[in-house]
Amino acid sequence: MGIAVYPGSFDPVTNGHLDIIKRAARISDSLIVAVLINSAKKPFFTTEERVEMLRECCAPFKNVTVESFDGLTVDFAKKHHASVLVRGLRAVSDFENELQLAQINHALMPGIETVFLTTGLRWGYLSSTVVKEAARYGSDVSRFVPHNVELKLKARFEELKGEVK
Ligand code: ADP
Repeated sequence: MGIAVYPGSFDPVTNGHLDIIKRAARISDSLIVAVLINSAKKPFFTTEERVEMLRECCAPFKNVTVESFDGLTVDFAKKHHASVLVRGLRAVSDFENELQLAQINHALMPGIETVFLTTGLRWGYLSSTVVKEAARYGSDVSRFVPHNVELKLKARFEELKGEVK
């Protein structure tokens, strides 16, 4: 697939995202994981933290790099000479939004194609939001996220608890 971009919030990266990264890396020459700065959404982890966690767990994949970006995904892709956007599809509920995104991106930049990889069944229910919710109430999230992310979530919720007291 030449150069591919996998954009997202990754707040934080989960095993579901990593599954997509691993598989997209296998079918592309190089893959750029693009972390949306997204100031409107008020992310839980800062851009730098999200990038750092991703870099740590993408280190084994030699053709994967991690960058942050602001603005339109297609502009980021163009700047990096990428012709493919990768997105993950978990369930039918993802489809409507993803279809719209792919179509608008294609309209904005016809040279760019969106490729969907379907989630491995075992990660179908996983989202960054449910992982944060589980971690907030002290559940073991080690099955859902890489170890560095698990530690970071624990530390952040401990910190927040300290602030509330
Ligand atoms: P966004 O805010 O752009 O949806 P996310 O970080 O939540 O960012 O997701 C980035 C991409 O990864 C999306 O294409 C999403 O469908 C996909 N994705 C999210 N969770 C999973 C998962 N568990 N398995 C596979 N793909 C996933």
